[in-house]
Amino acid sequence: MIGAGPTGVTAALDIFNAGLKVVLVHRPGKDPCAVGRAETVHAATLASLKRSGIEISALRQAVSPLEGVTSKWGNGDVFNEVADQRFVITRALFDDCLLAAARMLGVPIVDGAVEAIDNTGGQLTVVLRDGRSLAASFVLDATGRSAKWAHRFGAKENKIDTLTALSATYSAPELKKILVVEAVEDGWFSSVPDLKDGRQVTFFTDRTVIGTSHGRRDLLLARLSETSLLRHLSGQNPHEPPKLWAADLKTLDQSARSNLIAIGDAAQTIDPLSGSGMTAAIHNGRSAANAIIAHRHSGRTLSSLEHSRRAEFENHLRLRAAYYNVENRFAQGRFWTARRTCV
Ligand SMILES: Cc1cc2nc3c(=O)[nH]c(=O)nc-3n(C[C@H](O)[C@H](O)[C@H](O)COP(=O)(O)OP(=O)(O)OC[C@H]3O[C@@H](n4cnc5c(N)ncnc54)[C@H](O)[C@@H]3O)c2cc1C
Repeated sequence: MIGAGPTGVTAALDIFNAGLKVVLVHRPGKDPCAVGRAETVHAATLASLKRSGIEISALRQAVSPLEGVTSKWGNGDVFNEVADQRFVITRALFDDCLLAAARMLGVPIVDGAVEAIDNTGGQLTVVLRDGRSLAASFVLDATGRSAKWAHRFGAKENKIDTLTALSATYSAPELKKILVVEAVEDGWFSSVPDLKDGRQVTFFTDRTVIGTSHGRRDLLLARLSETSLLRHLSGQNPHEPPKLWAADLKTLDQSARSNLIAIGDAAQTIDPLSGSGMTAAIHNGRSAANAIIAHRHSGRTLSSLEHSRRAEFENHLRLRAAYYNVENRFAQGRFWTARRTCV
């Protein structure tokens, strides 16, 4: 298993718990995609980790409950809802806790970087940068959006959009435990409390809107001032310069017979508007783990794995079109029209 994010850790645990030999290769150091990022997850996602043996108590320091959701989406009315069983997580800390739990449960973990993977006669050899090597029947690529090894093994990427996230943290104690979502003309905002005294504000838009690095702070300010729920933050300087994250929707075409399988975000990503990215990634990794377990125990082929993954992605595209169709104030805008149909 290459990559120790939520997908890699849970899928490695499932394989380990089934009594098969698995090694989790963890790249030491902080994951740049997780540092400084707060995300929201549903209680069901946390509960599902328990199926892999991870107790919620092991994640406590990285998780805090949300109290409510305030949104302005659709005809411009503001909705206030109780955040039923939703939590905000500090991603870097959350990932550290998951890895520590896997270590404690006995999953063999190798700290190191993969240099090369050799595929000779169906037997894979994973060579680490320090010269160590691991023989494997399967390699699971759980390296997130980069899908580094799946690409090297010939998987082709289908990019559905160029969604990009521009994110900064502000002081806003008055909105402390509320998730705020609001649509603007060329994108939408999501804002969550971080675990300190700040509020992470993320503007999701198309890559072309972001432009050069110089104008990012001004762009964020300009778009914040178009909102009604977050406008008051536009008078403040963010704690640090805004960060840019790729959030594009994409799926990999990979061979159903390959013994190198991309899982989680490496296999496909979903629109963050759904708030279910991590759930979908873990589910995808778990399906691959189960298929490998069934294959090793009873010789079942893995052929249905790719088929069901594609069906899940198509379902997501339909759901995404439904979400974006609800917003009707910016009907002519390019950002919105591109997402209203099921590609
Ligand atoms: C801006 C943004 C906001 C989001 N907000 C939410 C949200 O609120 N709620 C939600 O549920 N989802 C959210 N998501 C989606 C969620 O972050 C992903 O679905 C989830 O992180 C996928 O987990 P993963 O383990 O598949 O990949 P990742 O979390 O990307 O983990 C990949 C792991 O592989 C490691 N790695 C990478 N390359 C290598 C390598 N060469 N060798 C070894 N290790 C490697 C990385 O260090 C990392 O540990 C958001 C996504 C974005 C972009």
